[in-house]
Amino acid sequence: MAVDYKKLGLVNTRAMFKRAINGGWAVPAFNFNNLEQLQAIIKASSDLKSPVILQVSKGARKYANQTLLRYLAEGAVQYAKELGCNHPEIVLHLDHGDSFELCKSCVDFGFSSVMIDGSALPYEENIALTKKVVDYAHQFDVTVEGELGVLAGVEDEVKSEESHYTKPEEVVDFATRSGVDSLAISIGTSHGAYKFKPEQCTRDPKTGRLIPPPLAFDVLDAVMEKLPGFPIVLHGSSSVPQEYVDIINHYGGKLPNAVGIPEDQLRKAAKSAVCKINIDSDSRLAFTAGVRETLAEHPEYFDPRQYCGKAREYMEQLYKHKITDVLGSDNKLANLD
Ligand SMILES: [Zn+2]
Repeated sequence: MAVDYKKLGLVNTRAMFKRAINGGWAVPAFNFNNLEQLQAIIKASSDLKSPVILQVSKGARKYANQTLLRYLAEGAVQYAKELGCNHPEIVLHLDHGDSFELCKSCVDFGFSSVMIDGSALPYEENIALTKKVVDYAHQFDVTVEGELGVLAGVEDEVKSEESHYTKPEEVVDFATRSGVDSLAISIGTSHGAYKFKPEQCTRDPKTGRLIPPPLAFDVLDAVMEKLPGFPIVLHGSSSVPQEYVDIINHYGGKLPNAVGIPEDQLRKAAKSAVCKINIDSDSRLAFTAGVRETLAEHPEYFDPRQYCGKAREYMEQLYKHKITDVLGSDNKLANLD
């Protein structure tokens, strides 16, 4: 028997996406794998009264166990209330589901939203698989994200050498026939902390740092013209903040030429029909920076709470910055009481 996510205090994405599109902001979708990351996400979103999507990837399920992650998410709702957020809007979402069976097991287990990523399949097979997931999920009012177009980069087990932009001429047919609630598109974002090769970038003459190529806003505009008001999702949208890369490299790390999506481009996207922006690598960088810095400065430390505590602090700062300065989702809960 399926667990009703509503009984867990979770919500699906439908209402928040509608408000996000109409209001010109985007909902943060943060991946989580462990306790500190979840604490930081809930603290940041509760303090700032932001809706939030907790994403579980296949790799996270393998690392942390799906059952534990689900109960953590259930606890997250109560934790948000304890923090003074009386009406939190928290989505538990499967990131990059790759089969009907996986999506079904998440729906049955209390997830309020799933992604079925059939983007690597031939077009007709992508539609058929997505529709199958939609038909099942909608019986339980679970929302479904599909994907058209291929992102470059590496994210857990999702890997592609090169990107293929979404073809705007396909989106109406795909959305109509599959029945998806939102659509992830490819416009030049990319998974991981090495989104672009140095030869794809230009260099800032002053700092010598890499400047990535701009996103394909013409493709986004064409998609929005074909599907007015339809929720669009951007994956691979970490910015790879230089401050964290610098801390990591300063304290013995080695991340040469890490490069992400500039935040001004994401800010621009958030104002459009893009209503969900996925951020994973940035939080990994913040965590690693906190751990490396603490252990380098305090070689006598051996209590994980000392260095994970610092990592959590850095992640909370990062999430708050994204919510306030990039996505504009602060104070956007339907009920702010
Ligand atoms: Zn992704």
